[in-house]
Amino acid sequence: MKRQQLTQRLLDWYDRNRRQLPWRQDSDPYRVWVSEIMLQQTRVDAVIPYFNKFMQRFPRLQDLAAAPEEEVLSYWQGLGYYSRVRNLQQGVREVVASYGGQVPDSPQDVRKLPGVGDYTAGAILSIAHNKPEPAVDGNVLRVISRLQRIEEPVEQSRTRKQIEQIVRDMMEQTERYGDFTQALMELGALVCTPRSPRCGACPWQADCIAVRDQVQAELPKKKAAEPPRQVQVHTGILVADQRVLAVQRPKTGLLAGMWQFPSVEVLLPEQQLSEAELASALRQRFQQLGQTVLLRCEWQRLNHVFSHRQWDLRAFLCDADAVDFSHRPDARWLTGAELKTLNWAGPYRKLADRVQTELLES
Ligand code: SF4
Repeated sequence: MKRQQLTQRLLDWYDRNRRQLPWRQDSDPYRVWVSEIMLQQTRVDAVIPYFNKFMQRFPRLQDLAAAPEEEVLSYWQGLGYYSRVRNLQQGVREVVASYGGQVPDSPQDVRKLPGVGDYTAGAILSIAHNKPEPAVDGNVLRVISRLQRIEEPVEQSRTRKQIEQIVRDMMEQTERYGDFTQALMELGALVCTPRSPRCGACPWQADCIAVRDQVQAELPKKKAAEPPRQVQVHTGILVADQRVLAVQRPKTGLLAGMWQFPSVEVLLPEQQLSEAELASALRQRFQQLGQTVLLRCEWQRLNHVFSHRQWDLRAFLCDADAVDFSHRPDARWLTGAELKTLNWAGPYRKLADRVQTELLES
């Protein structure tokens, strides 16, 4: 089957089957950008109400650039992966500062924006600026690896490049670049789904090698997943005067900028520490915050699995003879009511709820 026919069939199918989605009302680059960032790791149905509220509050790129970070994060609460929205805000600030508020339309400039990788750049360039730039995400990798029966793991950069080239070749058979990108995404979302693809409804059924060979359920191939790394986390709960000491994580790295209680994290097996060494490290962490503490007793233990990490989090109640309430940029003394207002890192949300109900008056 010629590429041109594949392209045309896909576009005809899209014209008949496309869903009405709020970010498809126009091709405003800012709306496309926000929607693509929200849609990473999150289903379309779940994104729609978040997108609508976000756009009501920040209708123009300039509104998002000017908003306080804490407020922006509150509109993202529930979507998770907060570094996405931090990068988005940094990106729009850069567009305001360097490009006069217009999202650039050159691949080099778009890829330089914070948080914009190859996929998001392809989506913005093709959907918003109608440029022939492929946007290859997990959906596209799945669909094309089935169509062509590609057996190599799709995480490999060589396989990815091969699929990107196939998409580019198909894309160049039309001038509807934005529609082509959206059609391919839509096919992956509605028909060529991860489990039980609806091949009978697919415009490519007659050309699909996976269907011909009846191997669609085995594709795409993935590398065997590595088990999550174990992390020992000791955290200290210091309560004084009906308030608890909380700190903010660094602005970069895992769970960037989110809140937790003063802690030490040890990645196993390289950094294994004894109980006494962990306790001492935790006391030193408090010392850096101007507090001299003793660990009274273990109070809670939580297990939390992220994609690549498994935290064994143990929370210790701490005592201090003299408490220093002075202000620090990355630490706060919080009341029970204030605990609810922060963005907590992973399992610290649960811990903060328990602190509030068991150790503090709201
Ligand atoms: Fe996917 Fe089936 Fe279409 Fe092949 S025919 S691309 S497996 S939905």
